[in-house]
Amino acid sequence: MREELLTIGAFARASGLSPKALRLYDELDLLRPLRVDPDSGYRHYAPAQLERARLVAWLRRLGMPLAEIRTVCALDRPAAGREIRAYWARVEAELAVRRDLAAFLVDQLTDETRGDGTMTLQLRCTTAHSDRGRVRPVNQDAVYAGRRLLAVADGFGPAGAPASSAAVAALRFLDDGAEPAAGSVLDTLQEAVRGADQAVRDAAGDDESAGTTLTALLLTGSRLALAHIGDSRAYLLRDGELFRVTQDHSWVQSLLDEGRLTPEEAESHPQRALLLKALGAPGSPSPDLRLRSPRPGDRYLLCSDGLTTVVPEPRIAALLSGPSPAEALVTAANTAGGPDNVSCAVADVVEAEADVTIAG
Ligand code: MN
Repeated sequence: MREELLTIGAFARASGLSPKALRLYDELDLLRPLRVDPDSGYRHYAPAQLERARLVAWLRRLGMPLAEIRTVCALDRPAAGREIRAYWARVEAELAVRRDLAAFLVDQLTDETRGDGTMTLQLRCTTAHSDRGRVRPVNQDAVYAGRRLLAVADGFGPAGAPASSAAVAALRFLDDGAEPAAGSVLDTLQEAVRGADQAVRDAAGDDESAGTTLTALLLTGSRLALAHIGDSRAYLLRDGELFRVTQDHSWVQSLLDEGRLTPEEAESHPQRALLLKALGAPGSPSPDLRLRSPRPGDRYLLCSDGLTTVVPEPRIAALLSGPSPAEALVTAANTAGGPDNVSCAVADVVEAEADVTIAG
């Protein structure tokens, strides 16, 4: 027995989609009517198509772009479920970046006394250490620790070493010149990272497979800006507790975020090193940019993945609390086999007044 077809009006009412939307989805090949009357052009739908139409309506309400809805609709139910979960993880990640920026702007516009800081902070006891490791023939990492800037870059490809050096060198002016205004520190850092991307492209020359990660931290007044792209990391040691403040832009991290991989599986994943974003890579780089509220007593660590792939976080916390942390962490990575280049930059946040007393 053949089911009776529904007119576009009846189908629209039953599915919660407007006739206009249905015509658009037909043109986009997202939801084709079962039959189009050759004379009148009227569209007719089968009742069995309602399930798909309702799914499309829900996904539109969720804010999913049409191209992605088409992907979801082509999948079986469990795969569609996974795809929606993955989509939502991406939305939340994007939202987190926008939330930080909104908080920063609100802060900046409503609390002028904090703009240039009631408390002036600075970096102290900054140290950096980089090592080839035990396996790699050359060191393609670059690291820098200065008065107000920390940076680590992990180059890859044949021109990986010049790429990472160029990225770090392009940020050096932030440390050398006049102190950037606290209110625009994030803009300043963003602009500098854009310059670093160009420098990396110039340094890589014809080597299109070369690029570098870059994680950098800039302190001015009472503001700390963080720029991050790739799988190097920034950690904060505050009151004896270690916090990771960056998210890896790696394929494996994206699988973790989307719930497709367990943390145990991630640790031994053969494609751990595959990056989703890097400087010098095709397309324009979109580093994560964050503004943080530093406190006196905070200790920051920037490191390349040569540390984090072999030294577990509790051990990092212990060594970071101890003497000569940058050297100690590099040594720990080499003791654990040193499979990769390893670089660490460490700095303490202190009140500027303390400078006078200690340096006295
Ligand atoms: Mn590495």
